[in-house]
Amino acid sequence: MSTNTLTGFTCLAPIAARDTVLLGHGSGGRLSGELVRDVFLPAFGSPELERLNDQAVVTVGGARIAMTTDSFVIRPLFFPGGDIGSLAVYGTVNDLAVGGAQPLFLSAAFILEEGFPMSQLRRVAASLQRAAQACGVQVVTADTKVVERGKGDGLFINTTGIGLAPSARELSADRARPGDRILLNGSIGEHGIAILAQREGLEFESAIESDCAPLHTLCAQVLEAADGIRCMRDLTRGGLSSALNEIAAQSRAGIALDESRIPVREEVRGACEMLGLDPLYVANEGKMIAIVAPEAAVSALAAMRNHPLGRGAEIIGTVTEAHAGLVTMKTALGTARIVDMLAGDQLPRIC
Ligand code: MG
Repeated sequence: MSTNTLTGFTCLAPIAARDTVLLGHGSGGRLSGELVRDVFLPAFGSPELERLNDQAVVTVGGARIAMTTDSFVIRPLFFPGGDIGSLAVYGTVNDLAVGGAQPLFLSAAFILEEGFPMSQLRRVAASLQRAAQACGVQVVTADTKVVERGKGDGLFINTTGIGLAPSARELSADRARPGDRILLNGSIGEHGIAILAQREGLEFESAIESDCAPLHTLCAQVLEAADGIRCMRDLTRGGLSSALNEIAAQSRAGIALDESRIPVREEVRGACEMLGLDPLYVANEGKMIAIVAPEAAVSALAAMRNHPLGRGAEIIGTVTEAHAGLVTMKTALGTARIVDMLAGDQLPRIC
């Protein structure tokens, strides 16, 4: 296929101007990107924000401080493999970790709906604290707001995280270069399928649990093992495809995937087929990719596989000069396809 043919495929009809917020604006896909580009960047537009990384790294008194914030609106609040409390810690810890930072402090803000059971709130708070302790981070400031019955959906949480970024490393989504390898730490799609199954009361032959986990020690281990790590991203809403599309766009490079190298557990593949979902777009909460210079790929992969959360790691693709800004994939059948970014959600309120 020529570049023109591929580029032609992505020339979708322009999305009409939106007068109101859509659910898809929270998807992490194309609509979220539009919201950031059309509303937030023009409003805030700091150079650090414009880099569109998962975290900002700022210098304060000679120290490089990483900062990130994330809100959690997941439904249901308790799910196989986790709950909104542990998720609110891991999601923020992971956004710091993929920037190469050591997570240190968290804030936690609770938006509660009148009538929410106190027993559930205690359970969530205990889980959040356990997760924070397991990550070696401290909740040092917090906030509570309550909205009237019917004006919220039980409980939303926002966490902000602060960490220390190493002085010598610069990781950013605009640093991928042709020839770089793409590493993934394990099988994709488990979080999204676990949530969907719980929400819809679906039962599969073997229970699928969320992969919800903190990635800070894995990220540190990869960084320690190899120079030439260009960028890392945790895969959350929008799945593998969103993260890779963002990197391809930011780096103005192509990304070529090999489907046969992308690990997907049999149960997840089966559930996706049954539900008409594509695992490349399904959310994860314990998976990350690293874009790595070719000479560093072997040691980075070994470091990943040496960590309990990276035993299933694979090199799933390469950064290319061709098809800049696009993600393409050689399918298991040997054909080629474009892995486009979805406009909206396969599954809303997944995190
Ligand atoms: Mg992230």
